[in-house]
Amino acid sequence: MASGSDAEGEAVSGAQLIAESLRAQNIEYMFGVVGIPITEIAIAAQAIGIKYIGMRNEQAACYAASAVGYLTGRPGVCLVVSGPGFLHALGGMANASMNCWPLIVIGGSSDRNQETMGAFQEFPQAVRTSIYGRPGSCYIDIPGDFVNLQVNKSSVKYLECCLPPPISMADKSAVSEAVSIMAHSEQPLLIIGKGAAYSHAENNIRKLVDLCGLPFLPTPMAKGVVPDNHPNCVAAARSMALQHADVIVLLGARLNWILHFGLPPRFRPDVKVIQIDICAEELGNNVRPAASLLGDISTVTKQLLEEFSKRPWKYPSSSQWWKRLREKIMYNEEKSKGLELQKSLPMNYYTVFHHIRELIPRDCILVSEGANTMDIGRTMLPNYHPRQRLDAGTFGTMGVGLGFAIAAAMVAKDRTPEKRVICIEGDSAFGFSGMELETICRYNLPVLIIVVNNNGIYTGLDTDAWKEMLKFGEPATCMPPVSLLPNSHYEQIMSAFGGKGYFVKTPEELQNALKASVADKQTPSLINVMIDPQSERKKQEFPWLTRSNM
Ligand code: ADP
Ligand code: MG
Repeated sequence: MASGSDAEGEAVSGAQLIAESLRAQNIEYMFGVVGIPITEIAIAAQAIGIKYIGMRNEQAACYAASAVGYLTGRPGVCLVVSGPGFLHALGGMANASMNCWPLIVIGGSSDRNQETMGAFQEFPQAVRTSIYGRPGSCYIDIPGDFVNLQVNKSSVKYLECCLPPPISMADKSAVSEAVSIMAHSEQPLLIIGKGAAYSHAENNIRKLVDLCGLPFLPTPMAKGVVPDNHPNCVAAARSMALQHADVIVLLGARLNWILHFGLPPRFRPDVKVIQIDICAEELGNNVRPAASLLGDISTVTKQLLEEFSKRPWKYPSSSQWWKRLREKIMYNEEKSKGLELQKSLPMNYYTVFHHIRELIPRDCILVSEGANTMDIGRTMLPNYHPRQRLDAGTFGTMGVGLGFAIAAAMVAKDRTPEKRVICIEGDSAFGFSGMELETICRYNLPVLIIVVNNNGIYTGLDTDAWKEMLKFGEPATCMPPVSLLPNSHYEQIMSAFGGKGYFVKTPEELQNALKASVADKQTPSLINVMIDPQSERKKQEFPWLTRSNM
């Protein structure tokens, strides 16, 4: 810096200004892969206390930064070089925007002439844009020559942290309309989405569920907003609840593919939807709502509670609807239990998740991706707290897991150090960012990764079948596109970096590996669980559920 200072005062570099601007906006975490021209930005960020986590691929870095946004409500930053670095980050930006998660990507670009150099003042705008209204991703392009430019500190206009997102409330008449529709419902259902988790609406939603005695269904990442073991949770009767509800209160969830578009045959054609969302454009998407409540979920839920305190209503637990839901829940739970307790080898998914559920801590942060691994894991592993489940999300993105796990471990270290991060992935999903194991070991993050390995995408071959296939002719013309190398020892990647690796084939080996890695709270570990390559999900009432990633 000294070389750039002049008689009039202290000099400051572009990189320092960027770091200071981010700091002023309360940015805590930055993920990236450094190179020209952005290395100095990472160093400057560290120097003023922003945590910089160097990753192995920009895509995983961007996934990590977006998960920070969801978990903390302040955007994480992803720092990338221009060109290829930026292009790799696009996947993460798209995923963040689809999930409505705040994110800031900073890319270095080639040098420009000095006229365009006011760019650092874009930071407050970017932070505001990423967290106000519907959250999403923002991109800031930093000219390369700006990073190392020295300017006089006194000539810089420093801006304060932007205000927190303004709270918006729903129209009063819409609130009273919603309450009267609910009070006249015969088969009501509350659907809780990850917008509710992001909005920290858990206390108010919990009160609404209890006050009105409503059955509720969380979407995948909204699990835990109200604990999965709450007696009103009807997740185990999901299809039936969706299909027969006459009034649905939609709290921060979209009627997209995850909710089968809100249309028949998965929903009643005459279902009355009460839609609550912060994004006006979302209201009325696919289904014409009976009531539209535009506003922040936590606040709007409070408005509903206030309205119900004026005109009390409780849905009777003795209703026929509750009886049918409870019967269906019991029936479905019995069916899964049969599969869980199967003793045959190789193991099936249900047996694997049964042991995982028995042995992991109750309040861990679960990251999950894969096809069957994610689908079955979601139904079998309960969440008790909000924002403790991260998965492939709205975009159905595979490869997010290790980035999310790294982000969750960093945030947990600062806020809830007693919470473990457990990342359960299919073998295909693991492959997208497997090299991030090095990142996990370098920063000594005690993440437990469980790879549920069926040698393939959806299904795979066993070693014998694979060898036969090789004899058949040119592998590129006869190898099933879904297959991956059988018997891959992914756990050895973890041990290569100094973490602990376990290769398990039996329930007993799985139990021992789980016990050891849960007990060791210091060391990253990976359990590679070999399962039947042809293991499938139990038969679903609607076959296209099994075809989807969710
Ligand atoms: P899920 O995948 O759980 O169904 P979605 O991502 O489809 O959830 O929907 C989340 C919705 O929540 C989005 O439409 C988004 O606009 C909305 N949302 C995000 N934050 C808030 C908030 N604070 N208040 C109200 N709605 C919100
Ligand atoms: Mg697989």
